[in-house]
Amino acid sequence: MRTVWRNRDTGRSLAGMSDNYDAYDVLVVGGGAAGLSAALVLSRARRQVLVVDSGAPRNAPAAHMHGYLSRDGLPPADLLVAGRHEVIGYGGEAVTDTVAEVIRCGNGTFRVRLVSGRSVSARRLLIATGLRDELPDVAGLRERWARDVLHCPYCHGWEVRDQRLGVLANSLPETVKFAQIVRQWAADVVLFVPAGTLTEAQRSELVARAVTVVEGEVARVVVKNDQLVGVEIPDGRVITRDALFVPPRFIPNNDLLVALGCELDDSGWVVKDATGRTTVAGVWVAGNVANPRAQVITAAGDGSAAAIALNADLVDEDVRAAVNAFAQETQP
Ligand SMILES: Cc1cc2nc3c(=O)[nH]c(=O)nc-3n(C[C@H](O)[C@H](O)[C@H](O)COP(=O)(O)OP(=O)(O)OC[C@H]3O[C@@H](n4cnc5c(N)ncnc54)[C@H](O)[C@@H]3O)c2cc1C
Repeated sequence: MRTVWRNRDTGRSLAGMSDNYDAYDVLVVGGGAAGLSAALVLSRARRQVLVVDSGAPRNAPAAHMHGYLSRDGLPPADLLVAGRHEVIGYGGEAVTDTVAEVIRCGNGTFRVRLVSGRSVSARRLLIATGLRDELPDVAGLRERWARDVLHCPYCHGWEVRDQRLGVLANSLPETVKFAQIVRQWAADVVLFVPAGTLTEAQRSELVARAVTVVEGEVARVVVKNDQLVGVEIPDGRVITRDALFVPPRFIPNNDLLVALGCELDDSGWVVKDATGRTTVAGVWVAGNVANPRAQVITAAGDGSAAAIALNADLVDEDVRAAVNAFAQETQP
């Protein structure tokens, strides 16, 4: 007989779910730094772990990864290849696939459908699906992303130090502070900021550190010979720049968390405790999906911390099961 698994909250059936599924202790969704780091800790803790990763880590467009102690300058993909080998070396599994749907069953386990059609079950879920960077709607920005349009001076600042830098601010005060931070890497910084948004205090601080301010719209970025050369403003003038820092809007890849019923805060980020435990029992998060500030090393740390807490939670369940079994065995 075909079993149709139903979402406990929505009552929807899980289309395409087969009767046969592999059972794991932990399903890790997302095999970036956060997910793989968690999988390594869990595999070494002798848990049955499956990592499902759709192969689009956030820093994929970058040629090199910086600021990760002992791995500075490594191509980002190399870290993940090494991580997968380490996980597999301890008996974990890692597959390239996409988790399409997850349901929480009455007994506290999860049934999961992958896009390939495979179905698996797990006692716990670790969601480490990262985030998306939404850029302002300025012509040419996306094409130069991670090349000379940059989001983070800690990732790319050293490489463009002492060059002619721009910062494309929005109306949020933190983007003006961001320009002051970028100023740490170069003396020639131009801040492009919407008209009428600077306070007098901000203006004085920018003048004090010789940050040039261009107020108003930005028309497009200008590229010559595959290199950013400037930023065009609506009157046609081009402000010469070698690189442009753009603070993106961070959008968490949290569809699965929302579908599971995890609570979100007012800004749309999942509510979690210090270990990454969400408000839905058995569901943990790590890395950028829950923490927009996480660098690669921090995401890996989040994954490790979540894995340790998650394993302790499984041990609690194992103890309860053992006590029940023992009581039944010894019942007269
Ligand atoms: C251009 C750029 C350059 C950067 N450079 C640096 C740097 O030099 N140093 C640094 O420390 N940080 C850097 N960062 C930040 C870095 O990318 C993040 O800190 C890091 O990727 C976070 O790791 P994560 O595991 O949380 O997410 P990710 O690395 O984004 O991994 C998430 C994974 O989940 C997968 N996924 C999503 N949904 C599903 C699904 N439904 N099923 C299966 N898999 C799924 C994705 O394919 C992806 O592989 C950079 C970011 C950008 C944008």
